[in-house]
Amino acid sequence: MAVFRSMIARKFSSATVQSLRVCVVGSGPAGFYTAEKMLKAHKGAEVDIIDRLPTPFGLVRSGVAPDHPETKIVTNQFSRVAHNERCSFFGNVSLGSSISLHELRQIYNVVVLAYGAESDRVLGIPGEDLKGVHSAREFVWWYNGHPDFSKLTLDLESTDTAVVLGQGNVALDVARILLRPPTELAITDIASHALAALRTSSIRKVYLVGRRGPVQAACTAKELREILAIKDLYINIKEADLLKTSADEEEMKNNRIRKRVFELLSKASSSGAPHPSSGQRELHFTFFRKPDKFLESDDRSGHVAGLQFEKTTLEGRDGSGNQIAVGTGQHEDLNCGLVLKSIGYKSTPVNGLPFNHSKGVVPNIRGRVLSSDLAQPEDGLYVCGWLKRGPTGIIATNLYDAEETVASISEDLEKGELTSTSSSTKAGREGLLQLLESRKVQVVTFSDWEKIDSEEKRLGSLKGKPREKLTTWKDLLEVTTK
Ligand SMILES: Cc1cc2nc3c(=O)[nH]c(=O)nc-3n(C[C@H](O)[C@H](O)[C@H](O)COP(=O)(O)OP(=O)(O)OC[C@H]3O[C@@H](n4cnc5c(N)ncnc54)[C@H](O)[C@@H]3O)c2cc1C
Repeated sequence: MAVFRSMIARKFSSATVQSLRVCVVGSGPAGFYTAEKMLKAHKGAEVDIIDRLPTPFGLVRSGVAPDHPETKIVTNQFSRVAHNERCSFFGNVSLGSSISLHELRQIYNVVVLAYGAESDRVLGIPGEDLKGVHSAREFVWWYNGHPDFSKLTLDLESTDTAVVLGQGNVALDVARILLRPPTELAITDIASHALAALRTSSIRKVYLVGRRGPVQAACTAKELREILAIKDLYINIKEADLLKTSADEEEMKNNRIRKRVFELLSKASSSGAPHPSSGQRELHFTFFRKPDKFLESDDRSGHVAGLQFEKTTLEGRDGSGNQIAVGTGQHEDLNCGLVLKSIGYKSTPVNGLPFNHSKGVVPNIRGRVLSSDLAQPEDGLYVCGWLKRGPTGIIATNLYDAEETVASISEDLEKGELTSTSSSTKAGREGLLQLLESRKVQVVTFSDWEKIDSEEKRLGSLKGKPREKLTTWKDLLEVTTK
């Protein structure tokens, strides 16, 4: 607490010369890009980034696959932002439990919500709660050492077959982690509990299942190429599924990525061996199948034993000009002991936040949060990233998104809407820290995070890994007190 008080004193003296107090909630790409742009555009701004985790960087740490280290280099840029003297990171501070939205808005001139999407879309079909059925988010958090999911009980030994529902990049990530030789994963920053489980995994076959056809597969060519290149992997794609209709041709004409993905799938279908060799790992692309229900095991009560699918065909158009899948009334079962649903992440609201439940986003115009009746923007409240536009896009998409949100803040500032009258005397950082101290919240600063970072790198170097992630709340918080 002494460190805590000295920080308040130090920050208070510098804060008094600042005029704009900004709080960004969430330290993922959207949060860091927003902070960077705010600091650049407003020399008088003091920006505090809070995150519910003791670690920064959001899905760059807990989403991006361990075998994609190059994608994580962006954290160097985010660290430079955190080192800016007008910026602070406060981890282990959760909006909604450590502090309310109402309180944050009292303390800061500007609050930007960038807390991502930490829940899942559900299928709403029978058996979804059976053991062995997980969301891709849970599985990804588990292998990436997210402290909320390090204790996930994931049985990879009682079955040789996993079904991944969905064919986007996240689906490809989870299928790749299941199929890639563990020796190749051992030199990544994968969590050690996940590596141990993958080493003893019995899973040999992975089915990637989509409602629509190969022309509509939602992945990108780079991710597809990577999974197709896994060593000694048998790939199965039914030739009949690759027959294109004129509507498919038109979809491909309008979308280069789809065309490239289709070409890669066609090539993989024709170039592989006709049958798997004994013990070979298998990847099956299964198209035109809609899950109807999860099937319960006869001998392991409460556990999934398979899925019933309805075959589909493509018809008509949705609003975006794409064909939609409709059921044919024909059904088919597929046996498996593990299902990973990769059908989309979902944001959740906090108390007092207008929220569009059907779209799973905060209603906004160019980042300005709209009141619940959508009549007007909420004073000083903004949104960015997945919470603003839904769970799509790559890391860089959040940069453009942050530009838009910061442009709206700048316009409102120019109109004098954020710092005029009594609102200019907001308590900002010192107000936040006093409140958190009174609630005995153990705040994790950026230099505390750097202690975690150093310890993880030290532990990793002992095993030939870039880092060995600390995966429990206790271990993470303990290191910061050393
Ligand atoms: C599995 C997966 C793999 C991906 N791989 C890639 C890739 O290889 N390349 C690529 O370019 N993009 C990738 N993406 C996309 C990229 O990660 C996202 O575009 C990006 O992370 C979204 O940024 P965000 O800041 O909106 O959300 P997030 O990154 O999720 O950040 C949200 C932050 O808010 C915090 N938070 C949540 N709730 C609270 C709360 N109540 N109070 C305080 N803080 C809170 C979270 O702890 C988190 O740090 C991947 C996404 C997923 C899901």
